[in-house]
Amino acid sequence: MSLSPINETPTTGGSLIQISSREEVIRQRLEDERRRLEKEAGLEKRTPQHFHKPLENPFTKSQRDRTTILFGGLTWKHEKLIHGALESLGYKCEALPVPTKKAFQLGKEYGNNGQCNPTYFTVGNLVEYVQSLEEKGLSKQEIIDRYVFFTAGACGPCRFGMYEAEYRLALRNSGFDGFRVLLFQQSGGLNQAEAEAGLEMNLDFFLGILNAMNIGDIINDVAYQIRPYEVNPGETDRVLGECMDLLHEVMRRKQPWTLESKLGSLLGKTGFAGTAEYVGKFLNQLYGDDYTAALRQVRDRFNAIPVDRTRVKPLVKITGEFWAQTTEGDGNFNMFKFLEREGAQVLVEPIGTWIMYMIHQAKQQIKDERGLDLIQQGVSKWNLTKVFGSHLTAQQNLAKLSAAEVIFKREYHRLIEALGGIAHHLTDQYELQRLGHPFYNSRASGGEGHLEVAKNIYYSNKDLCHMVLSLKPFGCMPSTQSDGAQSAVVSTYKDMIFIPIETSGEGDVNAHSRVQMALGEAKVRAKNEMKRVLEESGVALEDLKAFVAEHPEMQQPMYKYGHRKGVVGVAANFALHAAERMKTERRETVTV
Ligand code: SF4
Repeated sequence: MSLSPINETPTTGGSLIQISSREEVIRQRLEDERRRLEKEAGLEKRTPQHFHKPLENPFTKSQRDRTTILFGGLTWKHEKLIHGALESLGYKCEALPVPTKKAFQLGKEYGNNGQCNPTYFTVGNLVEYVQSLEEKGLSKQEIIDRYVFFTAGACGPCRFGMYEAEYRLALRNSGFDGFRVLLFQQSGGLNQAEAEAGLEMNLDFFLGILNAMNIGDIINDVAYQIRPYEVNPGETDRVLGECMDLLHEVMRRKQPWTLESKLGSLLGKTGFAGTAEYVGKFLNQLYGDDYTAALRQVRDRFNAIPVDRTRVKPLVKITGEFWAQTTEGDGNFNMFKFLEREGAQVLVEPIGTWIMYMIHQAKQQIKDERGLDLIQQGVSKWNLTKVFGSHLTAQQNLAKLSAAEVIFKREYHRLIEALGGIAHHLTDQYELQRLGHPFYNSRASGGEGHLEVAKNIYYSNKDLCHMVLSLKPFGCMPSTQSDGAQSAVVSTYKDMIFIPIETSGEGDVNAHSRVQMALGEAKVRAKNEMKRVLEESGVALEDLKAFVAEHPEMQQPMYKYGHRKGVVGVAANFALHAAERMKTERRETVTV
């Protein structure tokens, strides 16, 4: 192509105008030439498009009777209780099955590349479920019309912020475009209800879900404590199944607290009905006995399972990324079952820790950002009204979150007591922050933040486990950062046995063999500890067993025997207690 020369004739108005008009000609010619070349190469000129969140088909109140809410992502125990809680509020619901490797493959097939492992498993699990509905004879449109998926949402900063978009993309790619995904925002508070919404995320909804998760945590913890020591194989799981049916029924029948109609209409005239109802619901939560009474029944059933605590077992604390440390299936190589088969006792991580962490981080943020609004608005420090107002707001928000902390802890521990008092109390977030912060900045949020590092130190230093196993999903950003920090932790606390395992859709054999090696070391530690304890107390194991056989209460799971500093294992702590009791009883017999 030949370009015509640029006109050199000066225009009236001086040299600046000449230059700018020449540049304009050059720019125009470059633009023309680019267009010609793009056309030649078959490239379309792209105009930038701003992203808009796709419009969701609504789920309205009128559709509630004929719509099933799907949910998942926790253990079957948590999900069964959430199922009961949703049913009590009048919803039709269904928990998705535990994700398998097939789900992982579907997630990879229909989702974006480069996601973290839990995204593939959970997204693929939903696709697998809706496909199974189609196989049962429902048409795609029927599935889209009759089902919605409910999940947690967040704005990141890790890939968790992308889950919602991933669900939608995978559903679209698998032919279910328009399938509804409902979100509750982790940071959205206790009332995210919209008028006439199909799923009303109000106080009743959140109380129901929180109670279900807390009871799920505690019962899960207790079952993992009993199973390794059960005398009759399979008994714990059988009793657990029966108890879960009972608790599901309790959750299903529990009706939200409401103001009695007469009193309500009276208060309604004064404009206080809303507040009174809110306060009433909280008081009912704090002093109601529905759940604790049911848990006392469950306690008695568990307590009838005979256990042998003289079995020496290494205690393995599970940490890592939220989903990988919670799921009980292919998503973490079925690690809990594997550990129990290998002779370990598993110390599972409750969801309650995560809830307390969220509250703690929100408080931290308020403290860190206090007064920044004044700087941003250019408010003078002498503008006392505004300065005082800003600090008062921060203080009020802090007070609300502190109250939430206290209430949540109280409720959680009340349930623990009702279930026999053997489940683990919530770990103190301030202590976790103090331990973790020197290695992993506690302001760096995303995933488990500083918790992975802090829990490793906490459980090892307080003699609460022989070994820490961190389950870290392939492609997880925060867990990868933690890995780097854990090297510094392990070199500082040289006695700890810590093993990080990267979970993915394949490689079970390799992961199990690595865990087996670390577990070997933990087993030796547990055996040596028991040997030392028996030597120090001067009691032979056979005598100890005979003594326990004569005392049936010592074979019950809810029997309390204490935890000693420097002693980790159940067998060693129990042996110390039993030896002391033996000596005391012998002394008493001699005196008589
Ligand atoms: S914490 Fe890790 S695995 Fe979990 S959503 Fe974030 S990036 Fe993915």
